Amino acid sequence: PEHGYYMTQSPFGSQGDFTTAPEISQVFGELIGAWLMHSWEEIGAPTSFNLIELGPGRGTLMRDILRTARIRPEFIRAAHIQLVEMSPVLRQAQQELAQHSTAEISWVREIAEIPPAPSLIVGNEFLDCLPIRQFVRTTRKQDPCWRERLVGVETLNEKERLKFALADDYCETPVGAPNNAKPEDIFEVCEATLKVVQQIAQLLHAHQGRALLIDYGHAQSGFGDTLQALQNHQYCAPLDKPGFADVTAHVDFERLACTARQAGLAISGPIPQAIFLGRLGLAARAQALVTRLSRGDVKRLETGIRRLVHPEEMGTLFKAICLSSKGLPPPAGFTD
Ligand code: SAH
Repeated sequence: PEHGYYMTQSPFGSQGDFTTAPEISQVFGELIGAWLMHSWEEIGAPTSFNLIELGPGRGTLMRDILRTARIRPEFIRAAHIQLVEMSPVLRQAQQELAQHSTAEISWVREIAEIPPAPSLIVGNEFLDCLPIRQFVRTTRKQDPCWRERLVGVETLNEKERLKFALADDYCETPVGAPNNAKPEDIFEVCEATLKVVQQIAQLLHAHQGRALLIDYGHAQSGFGDTLQALQNHQYCAPLDKPGFADVTAHVDFERLACTARQAGLAISGPIPQAIFLGRLGLAARAQALVTRLSRGDVKRLETGIRRLVHPEEMGTLFKAICLSSKGLPPPAGFTD
């Protein structure tokens, strides 16, 4: 609550620790804005609905969405913008959004606080920063078993520092772990993500709606240590700079989808970000922009788009998944 990274830092951009898709190119938010307006029509164009963003960062994605939505004033008139944000520093930055829209904006700490109504939810790089637990496959009297990996303190040259260590106790096989674990394999569990999915399900059961979640991670549950830390765009060891580096882990989309399905939602994806943005009309939008831009800006646009879709950049590792209320048509971008 006091020294956590998001409680004190403003992490984005070239001055910060990392960059995200909406910060890379306006086209990202514009396509998502179009997707949201389309989804709004699919849920019957309600005259009052929640437009929810999970972890809006500097507010760039929502700003691009609102700018795009000017072509449908009824959409903006109907929207109650709900920003799920716990960082006081970033809430401050998001206040600026009020200048870009007449829509009413509220801030909440979690989805459960949002009043039931038709809801369209979007979250980019939100789930990767939620806390994970790691379990390590070990053996006990030659039988396979699991122990949790914990953080402890070690003293070295009279200085204390954080260190990973295994719990003394053995535990059950973590739920969701594939059954072919080898000794030393690590399985990660993000209970906070599963809670977010449950809360989304509650909202989308009461009234129709969809949630579009974009993040980096794996389509199938698997083993591996994906915990990583970034400071000034450089990787560092996750325990080296507590509170000063952005610590994240890959999203387990299979587990997410399975939890959502059990909670009664319809699942589309996950599909690679490049395919999703391509189907939403990335090339056409880029072409339309090019005719209006200076040569320097065209270069910047091209570089940005390459970062969003190239397989060695964000195109494949980043994925989109859509959770919907039952009975809606397949969401745009998830089928050919
Ligand atoms: N979506 C933005 C920012 C991603 S960074 C973008 O694409 O640029 C993650 C965001 O989630 C930040 O706004 C951070 O403050 C917020 N966040 C992190 N943990 C959170 C939590 N537990 N509850 C609510 N917001 C959280």
